[in-house]
Amino acid sequence: MSAGTRDTGAHTYADGGGTFHPPERRIVAGAGIAGERIVTVDACVIGSGAGGAPVAKELAEGGLRVAILEEGDWHESASFTARPRDMMPRLYRDAGQLATVGTPPIVIPLGRAVGGTTLVNSGTCFRTPAHVLARWRAAFGLDDMTPAALEPYFRRVERELNVSQVPEALPGRNALLVRQGARALGLHGDFLFRNAKGCVGSGVCAFGCPTGAKQHVGITYVPRAWAAGATTYTGVRARHLVGNRRRVREVTARTAGGGTLRVRCEHVVIACGALLTPGLLRRNGLGGASGQLGRNLSIHPASAARAVFDEPIDPWDGVPQSYYVDGLAGEGIILEGITGPPDQAAMVTPGSGAVHRERMLAARRTGSFGVMVSDTARGTVRDVGGRPFIRYDLHGDDAARFKRGFEVLAEIYWAAGAREVVVPLAGVPPLRDGDSGPLRRARVRPSQVQAMAFHPLGTARAGADPRAAVVDGALRVHGTENVHVADGSVVPSALGVNPQITIMALATRLAHHLLGAPPPAGEPAPSRIA
Ligand SMILES: Cc1cc2nc3c(=O)[nH]c(=O)nc-3n(C[C@H](O)[C@H](O)[C@H](O)COP(=O)(O)OP(=O)(O)OC[C@H]3O[C@@H](n4cnc5c(N)ncnc54)[C@H](O)[C@@H]3O)c2cc1C
Ligand code: SF4
Repeated sequence: MSAGTRDTGAHTYADGGGTFHPPERRIVAGAGIAGERIVTVDACVIGSGAGGAPVAKELAEGGLRVAILEEGDWHESASFTARPRDMMPRLYRDAGQLATVGTPPIVIPLGRAVGGTTLVNSGTCFRTPAHVLARWRAAFGLDDMTPAALEPYFRRVERELNVSQVPEALPGRNALLVRQGARALGLHGDFLFRNAKGCVGSGVCAFGCPTGAKQHVGITYVPRAWAAGATTYTGVRARHLVGNRRRVREVTARTAGGGTLRVRCEHVVIACGALLTPGLLRRNGLGGASGQLGRNLSIHPASAARAVFDEPIDPWDGVPQSYYVDGLAGEGIILEGITGPPDQAAMVTPGSGAVHRERMLAARRTGSFGVMVSDTARGTVRDVGGRPFIRYDLHGDDAARFKRGFEVLAEIYWAAGAREVVVPLAGVPPLRDGDSGPLRRARVRPSQVQAMAFHPLGTARAGADPRAAVVDGALRVHGTENVHVADGSVVPSALGVNPQITIMALATRLAHHLLGAPPPAGEPAPSRIA
């Protein structure tokens, strides 16, 4: 391997050595601020998730004094119990119950902690597809967003997070059966690339990785930011951006201790996520000129089929999201593993009483796999009493694509030897003994699709034209001098893949722009990447 290459194979994924430990944890708990506290920094970053943490780290390493404001708390990996009922209220906003209003209602879980949603995500890493970047250039005038221009930022993010491929030993039988079926049908798929280091396949990524293997930004970027002098204020909710419409001088936040934190700064970077950033901007009279603030919400709706086999699968053993099938990517459909511990299976297994009991008795023999649809529908989000109110109606074409994805997934499962396949489309009975006929014959309407969504994007979209976009190509809020956005809300279209690497690369690019620095040089090329 040449000196300029980073190995992304099995050894890199499974090697737990070399974790970075900052000399000092620079955390100030908002619970301890009862009165007024004033701090002066160069940059105030609001939100510590996929967008906020990379900006904070890069700015701090570039020599700026940085304050990170985070509404959630800091959590030790060792405190994670792996039990959904313990962890959902601790790590998720509204215990993971935030949902859309529309047809069908769709739950959109969000993390609320240092690390944001990356703390609870599945760790899957994809770069922004080249055809998506081409669309951004053509439709939104984002001329600089070429694969070549973004390459140094992707490389930097992937190195910081140890992005590497799930090895043959860890995907779990749940994924290996899907691989077997997909191969039999000639459909392309592969083990996923993930941000993990020393992963043991314990299967509980969505409830906080208890081993600290998942390289979420709360244990990677944030500690690096601390080492460069940044301070994280936890339990503080930013509310007011004080200044005039062009220039913000101060951010004020309500603290968990009932006090006020005032952060005087030269730069404000908002990274509250696609469902919360629009509310903060609007409350402060910023970003609304184009009429696009809070609109254009894409969510990448996801659903999962279950398949019952004769032999034990133990779907909770192995990495929950370890394999993908992209043979339908051209149609905007991607299949990705989705599973979890037995108590999660109990929550998502349909039915009640004796029916539920029967299904749970088969849980060891029941696999599950996800279908995600690159949506054509767009929703809106607005702030109602400090909470996001989300309107979203699934488009009929997207319902049809769920049906198509499940048809292919059922064939994959039959080819792998499944006895029964259950698709979460109301009115479609369980499929048995290789017969997908009831699914094929069904006309599937949006109201029949039982879905969740994990990838909200687009509500403060980027674009060169201030009449059509909220932020410009440098992610500065149109019409302001020093307010930038660095989270999923700037992503101007659905991606068709999981978004964290896109968000982190754009955030890294923003930080370099603010520092007036060239793109990072000398970042090693991955030996392979998705
Ligand atoms: C269960 C699950 C699995 C997922 N799996 C994957 C995956 O495998 N791969 C992938 O690419 N993506 C995945 N995602 C999505 C991915 O994690 C998100 O797209 C990404 O984290 C969004 O980044 P963000 O910066 O926009 O927001 P977030 O990461 O959500 O960060 C926003 C932060 O801002 C804080 N905040 C909000 N408002 C305020 C305020 N006013 N003041 C202070 N702080 C505030 C929030 O508490 C939060 O911590 C998954 C998501 C979920 C829920
Ligand atoms: S599978 Fe287990 S060890 Fe691996 S990243 Fe997920 S929670 Fe951590």
